[in-house]
Amino acid sequence: MSRFIDCRNYPSRNVHFTVAISADTKDELIEAVVQHGTKVHDYEDTLEFRENIKTELKRDPPLPNTFMCFLCQPCD
Ligand SMILES: [Zn+2]
Repeated sequence: MSRFIDCRNYPSRNVHFTVAISADTKDELIEAVVQHGTKVHDYEDTLEFRENIKTELKRDPPLPNTFMCFLCQPCD
């Protein structure tokens, strides 16, 4: 199961991140990020795009199995 957090349906002003995508497993997370990237940012679902996501996920995440989308605009 994966979930998608968007500031538009996250009314708390205390939330400073824009969009965070989290999932139970890394594979599910990659799928969720690919879907977000293709739907919201018009990326194509290519092997290269998936490799880029995997590289991003190797960096220190604020939470386990969470991807912070820095392409999405801040809420305010
Ligand atoms: Zn995004």
